[in-house]
Amino acid sequence: MDTVAILGGGLSGAIVAWHLARSSAVRIVVVEPRAELGRGLAYGTTDPDHKLNVPEDRMTLDTADLLHFRRWLSSPEAPFLPPGSATLRGEVFAPRGVFGQYVAQTVQPWIASGRITHRRTRALAARREGAGWLVDLEDGGTLSAGRIVLAVAHPAPRVPAALEPLRGDEGLLLDGVDTIAPDERVLIVGSGLTGADVVATLARRGQRGPVWMLSRHGRRSQPHGPRQPETAADYATTPEHTALGLLRRVRRDVARDAQAGLTWHAVFDRLRAQGPQIWAALPHPERARLLRHLRGLWDIHRFRIAPQTEAVLDRQIAAKRVTPLRGRITGARRGPDGIVVEIGAHHLTVDRIVLATGPAHDRALVENPLLAALAAGGAVTADPHGLGIRTTAECRAIAADGRAQDDLLVAGPLARGAVGELMGVPEITAWAERIARALALRGATRAA
Ligand SMILES: Cc1cc2nc3c(=O)[nH]c(=O)nc-3n(C[C@H](O)[C@H](O)[C@H](O)COP(=O)(O)OP(=O)(O)OC[C@H]3O[C@@H](n4cnc5c(N)ncnc54)[C@H](O)[C@@H]3O)c2cc1C
Repeated sequence: MDTVAILGGGLSGAIVAWHLARSSAVRIVVVEPRAELGRGLAYGTTDPDHKLNVPEDRMTLDTADLLHFRRWLSSPEAPFLPPGSATLRGEVFAPRGVFGQYVAQTVQPWIASGRITHRRTRALAARREGAGWLVDLEDGGTLSAGRIVLAVAHPAPRVPAALEPLRGDEGLLLDGVDTIAPDERVLIVGSGLTGADVVATLARRGQRGPVWMLSRHGRRSQPHGPRQPETAADYATTPEHTALGLLRRVRRDVARDAQAGLTWHAVFDRLRAQGPQIWAALPHPERARLLRHLRGLWDIHRFRIAPQTEAVLDRQIAAKRVTPLRGRITGARRGPDGIVVEIGAHHLTVDRIVLATGPAHDRALVENPLLAALAAGGAVTADPHGLGIRTTAECRAIAADGRAQDDLLVAGPLARGAVGELMGVPEITAWAERIARALALRGATRAA
């Protein structure tokens, strides 16, 4: 029987597997080292202060059923949410771990019935063999598959050049803050959503030592706006072909909306919805310009902070337990009293540095051994803008010789370079459904 191997069983891999299981008879094997499918980096956290950054009615595994998660939340299987999860407006921002539980429980019956096989190990390499693929697994086994979906997504954050001398030092944390003692002095590098999560966790654990939060431009993730009518702004019918043209049009639209009483959120929601068309219309140099000059601004408006997390951050700053800093790290070394960090002309001595700059997608093909092996064999190539893996708009991986491969697909954020916006759950779900449909269709054609 035709086998689809899904390598990586975080959110993207789990959604592809679930939709494929519901729509076709192909054999589905998900290779994922974690105990449960669907959790991955974002939803594997057990910290109740790591909130979803969007309300529950925008999170679903099924675009045909937008209230799927909301219904699960009120089902007997769902846990009680921590106090304060609902805002005064009645929107619920659940812990990310609860969303992970929802995804895992949704997929579980399909594993129990044998329709989806979860191989709890890691894929180390994959190579073409006959008409399909042979995947080498960390547990010593192999897996034969007709088609592969790469769903490995987020690599670790990049260590900035100025912090390289500290690589391997226990004071430099790339992942998790559990080892930080309450009296330690902490520098958080990055003031986006991950940095805010770190502040929330430290606050709950009773951090007493000083905390600094450094960002290059001193920007923070923006809050959510009111529920409001849709904007008339339209970037798809006659898309812009330059980054500057797009910026000017966005500014005009935001100003026009403001006169009609709408906040900027309406335009950014439209930009997000029309992301694939906007991105497709930009020639490569303009994509590069957009990423260079506008990405920071885009990120803080597009990745909005949960109100509960924002309230903790505001409280900690007002109480002077967290000090925002603006600048760039120019050097770091271990001194007798801790780690000395140079930020321009200033020095700061800290015990711990937490890298909260987000996954380094431009390093994916170097950091992940599976992708490195595929790249060495010419099956995958890096996105020219450092956004992950080069694919077609249908998420087929483009080989080194330029061929788009029907039997090697990329699900989730690493295919962002072709799609434009593929990070949040709504987009990941929509594209995972497309991939599952394409796989089911070809499976049916093969069987006929
Ligand atoms: C911290 C964080 C918070 C977020 N919060 C939100 C939110 O609130 N709302 C929202 O809409 N979006 C959010 N996002 C965005 C989005 O939901 C994530 O990008 C999502 O995690 C993407 O899932 P994924 O499965 O593609 O990647 P990942 O979560 O990275 O999962 C990849 C999986 O692949 C596995 N893997 C890696 N290498 C191998 C290998 N060689 N073999 C086998 N398995 C492998 C890993 O174990 C992992 O489980 C968040 C993202 C992050 C990083």
